[in-house]
Amino acid sequence: MTTSRLPGFYRRTIAERLDTVQKAAQLTTEEVSALRDAAGFDCDNADRMVENAIGVFPLPLGLAANFRLNGEDLLVPMAVEEPSVLAAASNAANLLREGPGIVTSSTEPIMIGQIQVLDFGDLPATRRRLEAEAERLVEMANAVNPRLVERGGGAQRLLVREFPDTAVGPMLVLHLEVNVCDAMGANIINTMVESIAPEVEAITLGRVRLRILSNLADKRLVRAQGRVPIERLARGDWTGDEVAQGIVEASVMADVDPYRAATHNKGAMNGVDAFLVAAGQDWRAVEAGCHAYAARDGRYRSLSRWGIDGDTLVGTIEIPMQVGVVGGITKTHPVVRVVHKILGFPSAARLGEIAAASGLAQNLAAIMALATDGIQKGHMSMHARNIAMEAGAATDELERVVAELRKTRTYTSTEAAGALKRIRGGA
Ligand code: NAD
Repeated sequence: MTTSRLPGFYRRTIAERLDTVQKAAQLTTEEVSALRDAAGFDCDNADRMVENAIGVFPLPLGLAANFRLNGEDLLVPMAVEEPSVLAAASNAANLLREGPGIVTSSTEPIMIGQIQVLDFGDLPATRRRLEAEAERLVEMANAVNPRLVERGGGAQRLLVREFPDTAVGPMLVLHLEVNVCDAMGANIINTMVESIAPEVEAITLGRVRLRILSNLADKRLVRAQGRVPIERLARGDWTGDEVAQGIVEASVMADVDPYRAATHNKGAMNGVDAFLVAAGQDWRAVEAGCHAYAARDGRYRSLSRWGIDGDTLVGTIEIPMQVGVVGGITKTHPVVRVVHKILGFPSAARLGEIAAASGLAQNLAAIMALATDGIQKGHMSMHARNIAMEAGAATDELERVVAELRKTRTYTSTEAAGALKRIRGGA
């Protein structure tokens, strides 16, 4: 990939855009038709993937431009139904591309498996017995998946957590921490915790109930930090300083007020999820993890922070990231396979870092709009096509109806129906 700068990409035809991505990622003709027509994915695939399949469900797939991560340009595929996500991500990525661009990092891919223990005897004595046997239980867990250990991963330690006074009596919750390498890890973890559960019952003389991974993957974090020269934030009548100040004020509101934090984080997750869906990831797992992490100190807070460092606006997002490049549908879904090729076949860590960078860019775009003109100006003008389609505009009438709506800035179905009537009447 030489550059992700694609000026005027949004004005090109789909054929031209496909040609650009085909050249950039050296896609075969089959891979291009996987993108254009979802070729290679039909009801039979769906039937093999889920129960009770009756069809497939298409979503738009787009490319976010301008992303630069750790000094390298990158095209970021996103699958999303909401208008303006791709435009917003591309615009913000353009602001964040100075120098090395967005700088990312991640921790080791440690996921947590939980084992719930009930009806044991004396709590401190049970705890001591479990701690004495912790190493052996870790070895037993690793015996289930020796290949994972050969790859440098595997179960690393077992922790005991106490809930002495619950509605169902004293409870112990064991945490098995596992390095899952390049997998998302749910099946790896679930198999391990299920396999050691009988031994946990033997040690505790208690009763094991739940054996399942935790989606609060707070040992598997990704971080993305982006910088924008403040002078580049100037727009319309707003100076760069005013926009930067507005962004910082928005960030602080999301930190102090959970009602705002929920919406602030939803804006960031627009970028994270749209990328994760395109990359074939379990985005519900990541969503669950991110929101739980946002509430880790007892109050739901913002996942990102924006501040001013001299003449630069600096933003950081830190989120738990349970993603994989093996397992799940990563190798079996034809569009997902092409998406991974466009991304240069990333490791799980890099995939997670791209997700975080997408979230950071989307978050910047949203709060920059909110801190200046408000969100509706850009969003409704993008949404105008949907309104025109709902009013019954045919493909060749769409742009004219949209132009009428933009002129009056009244994005309603009544206005669209009126515009369509006028166009059809030759007005
Ligand atoms: P998986 O079940 O396909 O397991 C990954 C397999 O790949 C393992 O057997 C592993 O040994 C092997 N492998 C090969 N190369 C590897 C490498 N380099 N690194 C790591 N493993 C390698 O996938 P998974 O990631 O364990 O499970 C993911 C699936 O589980 C997703 O489809 C997810 O939706 C689902 N799931 C999620 C939840 C949840 O989030 N609560 C619960 C259950 C299932």
